[in-house]
Amino acid sequence: MYLIRLVYTSSVSEQFSQGDIENILDVARKNNNKLNVTGMLCFNSRLFLQCLEGSRENVNKVYHTILNDPRHEKIEILEYQEISEREFDTWSMGYVPESSLTKPLNLRFSGSPHFSPYEMSGDSAHRLLLALRDTVPNI
Ligand code: FAD
Repeated sequence: MYLIRLVYTSSVSEQFSQGDIENILDVARKNNNKLNVTGMLCFNSRLFLQCLEGSRENVNKVYHTILNDPRHEKIEILEYQEISEREFDTWSMGYVPESSLTKPLNLRFSGSPHFSPYEMSGDSAHRLLLALRDTVPNI
């Protein structure tokens, strides 16, 4: 079964309230664990950037559910590719809060000091996620 990585970005919709993030993470960790899907979610109270990795079948399954979630909109795939190994294998869903999305990091991977995943190439988004990987506690 091929491993793939999918990276997408999206914006909160009117149906989202800030307290939803805890529920999203709880459900994501439970479901992803069952499907052996791993990854990381960044959130700055307005924008999401998420990486999912696992078997092609299961990542597609999870992404399809996410796509139909009314709590976010303007969902754009930034990268979708076959990989030979996982990079977020210790997280069923790691979480990067706004405080970790610092100006120097944003500037390193985009043209702006603000978190702007819609303006990033898939490769830059992936590299930003890797840079953030070591800054979040392993849960
Ligand atoms: P339930 O949690 O019971 O949800 C049933 C339905 O209700 C779903 O369609 C859900 O979208 C919708 N729903 C749930 N709560 C609300 C609410 N407060 N307001 C409006 N509609 C609601 N899920 C994963 O499994 N893995 C992930 O990695 C993952 N990442 C996510 C990232 C983002 C940015 C968002 C917004 C959601 C993410 N989710 C993830 C959640 C996913 O979209 C589904 O909500 C979830 O997988 C459905 O879980 P469930 O089958 O247990 O149903």
